[in-house]
Amino acid sequence: MEFEAPEGEVIDLDADGPADGAIDVDLQVEPSLKHLSPSSAGMYQQCARKWKFRYLDRLPDPPGPAALTGTFAHRALELLLQEPADNRTEARAKELARVAWPETAEDADYQALELDDKAARHFRWQGWTAIKGLWKLENPALVDVVATEQRVDTMIGEVPFRGIVDRLDNEPDGQIVADYKSGRAPSPRYREGRLAQVLLYAAAIAAETGVVPVRARLLYLGQRIIETPVTDEAVGAAVETLTATWNNVQSDCARNEFEPTTGPLCAWCPFASQCPEGMAEVTKRHKAGRVRLDAPAVALLPVAS
Ligand code: SF4
Repeated sequence: MEFEAPEGEVIDLDADGPADGAIDVDLQVEPSLKHLSPSSAGMYQQCARKWKFRYLDRLPDPPGPAALTGTFAHRALELLLQEPADNRTEARAKELARVAWPETAEDADYQALELDDKAARHFRWQGWTAIKGLWKLENPALVDVVATEQRVDTMIGEVPFRGIVDRLDNEPDGQIVADYKSGRAPSPRYREGRLAQVLLYAAAIAAETGVVPVRARLLYLGQRIIETPVTDEAVGAAVETLTATWNNVQSDCARNEFEPTTGPLCAWCPFASQCPEGMAEVTKRHKAGRVRLDAPAVALLPVAS
C-alpha cells in the first residue's frame, strides 16, 4: 500500500511529510459511573454537562479523523514495540502500518467519515507521519519494553480508576510510564495538566504491581518528549484533582444537576444541539465574529441554515 500526500503526490512511506500531525487524542472510553478514566475525568473537568451527555446519557460521540488517525498510529506502534528490539526499524513499521490499516479501514467510525480518495490519502499520510515521528524522539530498538497497552483497573486513593497505559519501559534507574500523543505538544502553561494523566497511570501501576515508576512520559510523536519524575508531591497533586473530580461527579449525579461550562469549545461540542446554554454561547460568539465558521455547532444556528 502506498500512502499519498494531501496534494495527491504519491509518496513512499520513507518520504518526509507535512510537519504537523493530527490534533490531540485520547483513545480511552469508560462509559461507566463506577469508574473514572483520564478521558472521562478530563471531560468532566472541562464541562460537567458534556460529561453527563457522554457518560450518563451515552449520546453518540463518534471520533473524528484526528482521533481515528491516532488510533491507527497507536496500533501500528503497539505492534512495532512488541517486535524483538532489532526488528524495530522504520521498514518494519511500514509493514506493520499495512497490517494495522485494515482494522482502521473497516472500522464503522472510519467508514462513517465517507472520505473521498484524496481525503483518505491525507488520513493515511497523517497516520504514517505520526508513526514515523517516533524516531524523532527515540530509537525504538533501544527501548527495553516491559508491556504495551497495559490495562489498569484499580483504586487510586478513594477513586476507582481504569485506563490503558500505552507503554511501560525499563530504564537503568527504574520503570517509565509512557503515553503516545499524536496531537500538538502543549505550551508550558498546559504541560502540568497533560502530565497529570501519566502520573495517574504511574499511581495505578504502583497500586497494581507494587513497583513505583520513576518517570511519567508523554511522547508527542514527531515533536518532543515531555516528562516528569514520579514524586509523592506530583502524584499527590494529580490524585487530589482526580479525587475532587470523583466527589463532584458523585454529588452531581445525586442531585441530577450538571452545570454547563460555556466557552469557545461549545462550538465544537457534539452535544451542543441538546444544550441551550451552549447554543446561546455559540450564538453570542457567532454574532461577535469569534467562532470559526466550520465549527459543527455553527451549522445549527438559524442564520447559518
Ligand atoms: S455545548 Fe458547551 S456547555 Fe453545553 S455541554 Fe457542550 S461544552 Fe458543555
